[in-house]
Amino acid sequence: MTPTAPVTPILPTPTWGTRSVAVVLGTRPELVKLAPVIRLLGPAAHLVHTGQHYDTDLSGRFLTELGLPEPTLLEGVGGKPRAVQISTALAQLDALFADEPPLAVVVQGDTNASLAGALAANARGIPLVHVEAGLRSHDRAMPEEHNRVVIDQLADVLCAATEDNRDLLRAEGVPAGRVAVTGNTVVEAVREHLPAAAERAALLAEHGVTADRYLLATVHRPENTDDPAALRAILTELAGLAAELPVLFAVHPRTKARLEAAGLGHLLAALTPLAPLGYGEFLALARHAAVIVSDSGGVQEETTVLGRPLVVVRRSTERPEAVDSGFAELVAPGRAVGRAVRRRLAEGDAGLRRLAETPSPFGDGLASQRIVALLGAVASGRPARLSVAA
Ligand code: UDP
Repeated sequence: MTPTAPVTPILPTPTWGTRSVAVVLGTRPELVKLAPVIRLLGPAAHLVHTGQHYDTDLSGRFLTELGLPEPTLLEGVGGKPRAVQISTALAQLDALFADEPPLAVVVQGDTNASLAGALAANARGIPLVHVEAGLRSHDRAMPEEHNRVVIDQLADVLCAATEDNRDLLRAEGVPAGRVAVTGNTVVEAVREHLPAAAERAALLAEHGVTADRYLLATVHRPENTDDPAALRAILTELAGLAAELPVLFAVHPRTKARLEAAGLGHLLAALTPLAPLGYGEFLALARHAAVIVSDSGGVQEETTVLGRPLVVVRRSTERPEAVDSGFAELVAPGRAVGRAVRRRLAEGDAGLRRLAETPSPFGDGLASQRIVALLGAVASGRPARLSVAA
């Protein structure tokens, strides 16, 4: 795949008045997936970063790389317990929105930042648009599941990535008039930021790996990192695989801290540990990995655009489309990881070709344009035309 230049909008770009659209976010995946929407909004976007994950590796460099404007940064949120994150962000957002009420508020996904943005919009009667609505893991042990259910209840316009997401919302009683199937903005994010072939080849050479002959791994979810037994089981399997082919391991700051706290740092010796990568570099390495091992939500979607196999180390997923379309497989921490990776490796080039030919179930790359068109309608007080289909 070659990267495409940012697409020329095919839908009419709304004209905005002097008031802005507030885009509230707080983590790396929100920056990635909202970037195409923010760029289309142009000067109308007021970016508000709650600081949930605000450091150079997870946010600062992404603002620059994704071409995003300087955000208003909230204070005292990062590193706090969940309720404190939500309430601290909520109080500051309320003050911001009281001062300068935006035309609409946009949030994406299921983070504490998204929930704070949704509650703040609701409290001030500002129209709320939820990007990536209707995801459900049905796993009540996940705080994100509760966040996304509440946000969907509050949202005025729910942008479902797939028809299945829309059906889940309808089954919960959300009226059809509030839901649009837009596709997932991750498709255009990948297309716009995947480096060109020559740059990818140079990046692989820098990391000392050959296309289709290495694994790429990321692990950061609390269920895998906060339980030392689970973390040990995953790293032991990756170390076993590293005897067969190089394993590049992009270490999330949370994982690094947990590894050190649990005294498991020695398990990295067999792997090639990497500091968190910039978006383009991560996509380039994912594009040519023989298999990716990850517990990330966004990576489950990205592998379907990149056409690569993924082993998902999680007990549940809110993205069954990646599994149903043959890209991803869900496994528990431990021996199942190694077994699933070896099965995928055994499929060889034929397996990779099959995935390269399978379309992504997450849309056609026009989701952000549909979302901005809906925002235009909401912001101008016209009823949003929600019958758009992916
Ligand atoms: N990512 C990245 N560099 C890395 C690891 C991941 O740019 O070293 C990107 C990845 O491509 C995806 C996003 O970060 O777009 C996923 O973030 P994360 O896994 O933190 O969150 P989740 O998607 O699980 O909510």
